[in-house]
Amino acid sequence: MPENVPGIHHVTAITGHVQRNVDFYVSVLGLRFIKKTVNFDVPDTYHIYFGDRLGTPGTALTFFGWPHLPWGPAGSGQVTVISFAVPAASLDYWFGRLRELGAQPSRSSRFDADLVTFKDPDQFQLELVGQASDDRWVPWPEGPVDPELAIRGFHSVGLGVSDAETSRRFLRETMGFQEVAREGRRTRLATGDGTPSSMVELLEDPDLPRGEEAVGTVHHVAWRAADDAHELAWRDKLVEAGRQVTPVIDRKYFHSIYFREPGGVLFEIATDQPGFTVDEAPEALGSALQLPPQYEGRRENLKFNLPPIVVPGTASRTER
Ligand code: ZN
Repeated sequence: MPENVPGIHHVTAITGHVQRNVDFYVSVLGLRFIKKTVNFDVPDTYHIYFGDRLGTPGTALTFFGWPHLPWGPAGSGQVTVISFAVPAASLDYWFGRLRELGAQPSRSSRFDADLVTFKDPDQFQLELVGQASDDRWVPWPEGPVDPELAIRGFHSVGLGVSDAETSRRFLRETMGFQEVAREGRRTRLATGDGTPSSMVELLEDPDLPRGEEAVGTVHHVAWRAADDAHELAWRDKLVEAGRQVTPVIDRKYFHSIYFREPGGVLFEIATDQPGFTVDEAPEALGSALQLPPQYEGRRENLKFNLPPIVVPGTASRTER
């Protein structure tokens, strides 16, 4: 069996309003805008990326800008909640900041941590979990949130499933996850070292309608592979387990395979390399439209059809 995937690589969702999305994730949540490119399969639409200072695996939240799609809601067979890890001592700050900026947060606790829940402008469910004890990730130092209080990276994703048992068995027996907690219809499983970004929660709800590809939904969650050989070993393992898996696809910033877990959620496995600095210097991340080689010849034409994006400045930092 290949070594476990160590955790979440990135999460990709669908927004209906790219500028409003950038305003929220940069100005309100303080993530860095790290990449502006096009959807490699639908090149007249944006694919934008947020993350920590470098978009380190475990921090990258990405969006397809698909304004032509109807709105969600998120449903069964999809990621229905994205949770970020923040330092536990920052939750008061975040609650105040989100309330002040109109995001209508509420507070609760679950398992071993407190959290703040709210929605993004496309009405997708987000959480900040007060559980970030590590320094693997470096928040954006010039961002609007003090780096000591800032989002570190992903904590977990929640999968909406009508029957948790088949997904639970797949995650445990095929993907090597371990069940770490269960409460009612919520099961938390972890891969790798069990720290933030290595967790997934199965949110069982037999009555939840099937989710469609729509604005305000997550398209897929990607898990990390250390390198190409690790990814290929996982591909073999998944095919052997009866999953339909795509060939390896070059996504410029990582190499990817895609498959669905038994509950219907689209999974990707993406390599840690080459990363987001492959076509822009660290200080210039997100500053120019980046295209893969196959679309360079169409640059002017594509640019003409993509609305400009203004990345907010850093003047809005609020004091703790
Ligand atoms: Zn992806």
